[in-house]
Amino acid sequence: MLLGSVTAIVFAVAPSASAAAPGASAAPATQQAVRTISYDSSRAAELAPLVDQAAQVWNSGVTNVRLVKGTGGVTVSTAQNGSAPGVASCVGCTRGSITLYRNQIKSSGAGTLRVIVHEFGHILSLNHPQDIGNCDKVMAGGRCDNPQPNAAERAAVDRFWQGRLSIAVEPGGRPDERGVFNVPALAGR
Ligand SMILES: [Zn+2]
Repeated sequence: MLLGSVTAIVFAVAPSASAAAPGASAAPATQQAVRTISYDSSRAAELAPLVDQAAQVWNSGVTNVRLVKGTGGVTVSTAQNGSAPGVASCVGCTRGSITLYRNQIKSSGAGTLRVIVHEFGHILSLNHPQDIGNCDKVMAGGRCDNPQPNAAERAAVDRFWQGRLSIAVEPGGRPDERGVFNVPALAGR
């Protein structure tokens, strides 16, 4: 019963999404039911290219939601010092913020791209798993470099956003990032 309105939203959203990247080889208008979340990296300073890269990591791994450059959604900014390498303001949300703390990224020993992919993971609905330090999962933090979410993480994101195209998403609370990235990587590769 939702199909009619869902289609209408897709057509309403698609033009602005492609207008944001005029030079890019925008995906052909295959009008899939994809939720878009804008992110603004203009306040991310020297980390802006990595923020774009992190968005692409998710975009290439999931199909039901898309991170697109723009304002009015998630603002990504940097600061020198905070309580953790990164903080996301909400879990599963289309509006919010991510703050990246340079000194804590450095001291944690975690890869910078991994940290940013992790924070986007919260925005995209993921919480921390039990096995903190498992480098195979971007949501497990740890002193790891791997920036690629594993298949289960990608599937969980797709499940969350499926059918939420025209539904207001109630954001979950702010995840506690302390002690997530500075734990040793779990044994294994
Ligand atoms: Zn986290």
